[in-house]
Amino acid sequence: SLTIGIVGLPNVGKSTMFNALTKNDVLAANYPFATIEPNVGVVGVPDARLGRLAEIFDSARQVPATVSFVDIAGIVKGASEGQGLGNKFLANIREADAICQVIRVFNDPDVVHVDGRVEPKADIETINTELILADLQTIENALPRLVKEARMAKEKQEIVAAVERAKDVLDGGQTVFAAGLDLEPLRDLHLLTAKPFLYVFNMDDEELSDDALKADLRALVAPAEAIFLDAQIEAELSELDDAEALELLQSMGQEESGLDMLARVGFDTLGLQTYLTAGPKEARAWTIRKGATAPEAAGVIHTDFQKGFIKAEVVSFDDLVATGSMTEARSKGLVRMEGKDYVMADGDVVEFRFNV
Ligand code: GDP
Repeated sequence: SLTIGIVGLPNVGKSTMFNALTKNDVLAANYPFATIEPNVGVVGVPDARLGRLAEIFDSARQVPATVSFVDIAGIVKGASEGQGLGNKFLANIREADAICQVIRVFNDPDVVHVDGRVEPKADIETINTELILADLQTIENALPRLVKEARMAKEKQEIVAAVERAKDVLDGGQTVFAAGLDLEPLRDLHLLTAKPFLYVFNMDDEELSDDALKADLRALVAPAEAIFLDAQIEAELSELDDAEALELLQSMGQEESGLDMLARVGFDTLGLQTYLTAGPKEARAWTIRKGATAPEAAGVIHTDFQKGFIKAEVVSFDDLVATGSMTEARSKGLVRMEGKDYVMADGDVVEFRFNV
């Protein structure tokens, strides 16, 4: 499954946030015998639609989609040169499908900042510079070989051209993803800055209610997503039961915890969406890539469903809720029969028909 790597400078609150995340680990909760790696947290993606479905179908349980976070050892200046943790850091980050940067905004004289001052913009630059330098190194190493291959095989010239474009972008201080380059010809290089980024700004209470500050930070990283949270409060929330947590959140004027938001936005950043199934046993959200077809969606449940796919019976979540039941939705003509070319929409409620 796809993972999001958490990176950031030392002392920005990564461990605090990651530990809070793993308190919600669905593997630990639902699969007691699963191998749980200490640096991986698998968390549920909050989805209010599941509760509604469970009511309509009288489902015994609800199973959310999940998203995995990997805690990657702290980045430092010089990481791209393989100093200290550098090499291991780069290997870990290469395996992630998206990168979540944790940026310190909170001021606390008791928590040393590696560069002696709290300045989000400079910290983002430090991290991105390391990632850009690492990619330039990768390209420098690969280019002579690619040029040689292109001499023998003309179709590889396209790859060389794409890699040279990427090099220009990186030389100009921009990331490959932000530049909007075609990523396909670059795939084999596993460039770090070709991954989508998202940003978590770790801030204190007062900062969290400072809309001007948040707007500035948002603008700094746009079009990447920005999430604002207080890692220490998230840690407290993760110790509480659901009702108590909700009460604390509401007392702070929030409806959702920062970590719930992170799970949702992270899932979206990975290019994923969900479709839904429901019955007496469970109401469940299944993970598919955006743009997946109906047979691909069926394959997520079971490969046999994909092989023997006949059609999908589909109703949008909103139509189902508006009519109140599958029977009503059917009688109103809102349940569609879709074939193998159907591209799934987020929130489709589906029943597959297949040959066995
Ligand atoms: P890491 O090095 O990035 O993993 O940072 P840690 O999670 O270990 O946090 C470093 C220190 O900062 C710890 O003492 C935390 O308790 C503290 N800390 C983390 N988040 C916050 C925050 O939002 N506000 C304040 N004041 N301190 C924080």
